[in-house]
Amino acid sequence: MLAGTGSDLIQGTDRLFGGAVQRASADIRQYHGQMTGHQLKVYNSLGRRIEDFTPSADVVGLYSCGPTVYSFPHLGNMRTHVFADTLRRALRWKQIPVRHVINITDVGHAVADSDTGEDKLEVAAAKERRSVADIADFYTQAYFTDLAALNVLPADVYPRASDYVEQMIEFAVRLEERGYTYQIPSGLYFDTSKSPGYGELAMMDIAGQREAARVEQVEGRRHKTDFALWRTEEPGVRRVMRWESPWGWGAPGWHLECSVMSMALLGEHFDMHTGGIDLRELHHVNEIAQSEGYLGDGKPWVKYWLHGEFLLLNNAKIAKSSGPVPRLADLIEAGYHPLAYRLFLLGGHYRSQLDFTPNAVDAAQATLRRLVTRVTALRPLPRVETYTQARAALAAVGGETSAALVGDAAGDKAALAYLDQIDEAISLDLATPKVLAALQEALRDSQVTPAGLRVVVASADALLGLRLADLDPAELDRRSATDLDQTERAEIERLVAERTKARGEKNWHRADEIRTELDHLGVQVTDTPAGPTWHLR
Ligand SMILES: [Zn+2]
Repeated sequence: MLAGTGSDLIQGTDRLFGGAVQRASADIRQYHGQMTGHQLKVYNSLGRRIEDFTPSADVVGLYSCGPTVYSFPHLGNMRTHVFADTLRRALRWKQIPVRHVINITDVGHAVADSDTGEDKLEVAAAKERRSVADIADFYTQAYFTDLAALNVLPADVYPRASDYVEQMIEFAVRLEERGYTYQIPSGLYFDTSKSPGYGELAMMDIAGQREAARVEQVEGRRHKTDFALWRTEEPGVRRVMRWESPWGWGAPGWHLECSVMSMALLGEHFDMHTGGIDLRELHHVNEIAQSEGYLGDGKPWVKYWLHGEFLLLNNAKIAKSSGPVPRLADLIEAGYHPLAYRLFLLGGHYRSQLDFTPNAVDAAQATLRRLVTRVTALRPLPRVETYTQARAALAAVGGETSAALVGDAAGDKAALAYLDQIDEAISLDLATPKVLAALQEALRDSQVTPAGLRVVVASADALLGLRLADLDPAELDRRSATDLDQTERAEIERLVAERTKARGEKNWHRADEIRTELDHLGVQVTDTPAGPTWHLR
């Protein structure tokens, strides 16, 4: 484990020499302030491969597709934002300056992601008997509340789609002038047959998709992949949110806002665009087509596309699950800490599907509690946000340079090895499970000095964002199911299952009896859409 520590930091001919020279060279690089660690690599959906991340500007533009604010964000939505936050933290770790934009969709997103029909916000407003503006404000606030609870770093800008409609119209006018569009009674459409690389991101079989993928029927639409830039009001149907345009009164298409707002806030070309995997097949494909048509410079609009995988609910896709999808507030109500959910998410790689079950979050809460309890003894932790700061902090605790030169395998050299593991893991496409594993291993390793361990913990947490520096263990103090022995646990599981069965059979009397029995055991059962969860009071 220690063998590769210094050598990975060194390039070129240094590799031809022995270990001592390599270590000395590492120290020389340190003096020149070039401690960048491993090359950051990310999986680019455009081309479907791991690539070196090479910024093309002094400040990296990062655009993340944000929420449509017509309902509470659910746990699956928040997974996407924790993923974008991990990317943010990795860029900070590498001292790559970032400008991060997350859009708030408050207009333009029609029900079923379609090109016709009502706006999601207008439907919600009618249902809740509130104004569209109230709905947008309320659910935007709910989204910010969840972001804060999950310790997600705030973006630099959260533009609202409704503030950019004039620019969207100008954008569509330019596409019209360039011959990319046609007008039909339901609005202005983008002609995807005019876009040479259309569907590349989705690796789309366009011929197949034209026949099968889009079920929506739009009168006059030339190809099934064509999409609305402007949705003109139907005669006699007046939208709540409406603007005047060259194509009549109406509202923008859903895809337009992201192209317009990202270019307005990050420049015409920028480096990174993220979103949930569901956006890779349609929304992002259309963003690329209209943006490259608009720019017309023959260059790819955005260099790196990163997509976070689905959260599954008891092994089913959320879109296909019946009933309401749990949200963060449901977990909190059931006795979980929001950062236990964050830890649960980081325990899986962002490109893997992750199955949400009550037991999995239970285990995450127990792990977080053990971590925080262990780390409390090490506080205060040093302030570390970047790899360079971590290396400097390790050097400052006294051991790194001399240990490396005299080949002393003990003490801070062990800490340095863990730091290298953490850096290597986050650098290779944000492998948070490996960062967590390195952290846990370091905490168990008696070779690491307390001072070195503080730096390792602070470094891991700069990337994981679990608030290990200040989270109060009392906040996680609920007795955890993992404190039980196997027999106790099996008995509780049996009772909970029996109660679920009784409820399924509408045997309310028996269900109540079992609840009372569980009560006596100090077990609190909460029924969530994902099934019953329980914890100890
Ligand atoms: Zn978007």
